[in-house]
Amino acid sequence: MLVDVHCHLTDKVFQDKLDEIVSEAKKIGVRALVSSGLGLIDSLKVLEISDYRNIFPSIGIMPYELEGYEEVIELIEKNSDKIVAVGEVGLDYHIYTAVDRRLQEKVFIEFINLAERLDLPIIVHSRSAGRYALEILFKHNAEKVIMHAFDGSASHAIEGVRKGYYFSIPPSIVRSQQKQKLVKRLPIENLLLESDAPALSPVLGEVNKPSNIKISIEWISRLKNISTGKVEEVTTENALKILKINLI
Ligand SMILES: [Zn+2]
Repeated sequence: MLVDVHCHLTDKVFQDKLDEIVSEAKKIGVRALVSSGLGLIDSLKVLEISDYRNIFPSIGIMPYELEGYEEVIELIEKNSDKIVAVGEVGLDYHIYTAVDRRLQEKVFIEFINLAERLDLPIIVHSRSAGRYALEILFKHNAEKVIMHAFDGSASHAIEGVRKGYYFSIPPSIVRSQQKQKLVKRLPIENLLLESDAPALSPVLGEVNKPSNIKISIEWISRLKNISTGKVEEVTTENALKILKINLI
């Protein structure tokens, strides 16, 4: 039994293919997928496709498209008993990101406080901003945190581990030395599996699928010298604990 803690099943590449994608994932043991909303319209779609058996919703907004974020906050508050997490939200300091960093930080802090108030975990996007995102999370006493596709240094990630934060590992690990280093350094007790489908494919430019988290499992197993069975067991245990998903 596996959990894909972060993907985007509402993406238009999956339109009319949702059943196919979910059953393909089931074949390798994926029982639960957390589909994360990117903004108001997408988050409404996420709520619509969630069946709370295999697909579970989280609601958020991308830090580089913050228009209407207040409505996303309202949607989270209205659906706080349905969603398994707030996210993805966070910071994006990539060179091409046009949104003012101070605005990104202000909004990120609002989401951190919201997640804490609702006692929900927060799924954090932190492209080119790993250490800054962690610093803000520490400062605002965030406790239930999933750092998704963290691209910062392992030494900063270790500080997150000390606070009990989780780091979810995408299939793009095959082509990222930084992610490989991260997996080597972080304890398995703090790792999760994510596809981020359709993004972060093992092959650059291809459409990623949740079933590809088997690649994350293989790489974690190899890098940490732990059996794939143990990787599956511990990462699933971690996921169920942080997301409080009830699999009947
Ligand atoms: Zn994502």
